[in-house]
Amino acid sequence: MLIIGSHVSFQKDSQLLGSLTEALEYGSNTFMFYTGAPQNTGRYPIDDALTEKAITIIKEKKIDYSKVIVHAPYIINLANDTDEDKFLFSVNFLKEELKRCSKLGIKYMVLHPGSHVGLGIEKGITNIAKGLNMVLDNTDVTILLETMAGKGSEIGSKLEEIKEIIDLVEDKTHIGVCLDTCHLSDAGYDISNFDSLLDTFNKIIGIDKIHCIHVNDSKNENGSHKDRHENIGFGKIGFDTLLKIIYNERLEQVPKILETPYVEKKYPPYKYEIEMIRNKKFDENLLDKIIKQD
Ligand code: FE
Ligand code: FE
Ligand code: ZN
Repeated sequence: MLIIGSHVSFQKDSQLLGSLTEALEYGSNTFMFYTGAPQNTGRYPIDDALTEKAITIIKEKKIDYSKVIVHAPYIINLANDTDEDKFLFSVNFLKEELKRCSKLGIKYMVLHPGSHVGLGIEKGITNIAKGLNMVLDNTDVTILLETMAGKGSEIGSKLEEIKEIIDLVEDKTHIGVCLDTCHLSDAGYDISNFDSLLDTFNKIIGIDKIHCIHVNDSKNENGSHKDRHENIGFGKIGFDTLLKIIYNERLEQVPKILETPYVEKKYPPYKYEIEMIRNKKFDENLLDKIIKQD
């Protein structure tokens, strides 16, 4: 069975229940959210009553809650330790996020490995591993390192870099990978032959480490290192390639999460894109339909 959903919001007053409600409106059977604003550290307490209500509905709807994902805020950067206070801030905030995931009963949290900002890739990688080892010693949540586009000094645009980080992580039971199709393509990987890329991944890291896939089209050509997401089928990756990834048998149990842009920055595309994916047929008029909301 296809496990598919999108990024959804998580708000102070509705929390997990609100996120779930939004996901259900899109016809999803999974979803991903930030536990607060991704770009700042303002966090309000988790309301257990809201979590319980949401989990009751999740059970009724036969949704596998272990496939619901949290994304760590992108202000966390473990790769640079030039300013020790900043590095420790990232580590501590990540610890807090893991606790929030635990409290919500979430199993997987996606994390951008980080940007070395001038320190060089090797130093960046050891810093990331150092940070991960500081947070992974006492948690029941698995951190999924996301494959990156290679914008600026981002680490993780090469599978070998992700492997190096994992190699340096002491407790490997709570570390995994999140593939992002836009990022893989922007990083220069040929995802049109996805099975061969999976073979490569399997040799370097191991397919069993993949616990989430971000399904996005890309505004830019293969190898552009730009990281600008596009709606499904409307970018340079294209519908057929994305569909093959989504329905790849080896990844059947892995949740697929859309992080495609709102149309005209206003209209969430997810209900329409998910429907189109389920129909397995590209609709060139989809964006117009989204704007008209019909
Ligand atoms: Fe991400
Ligand atoms: Fe992503
Ligand atoms: Zn991205």
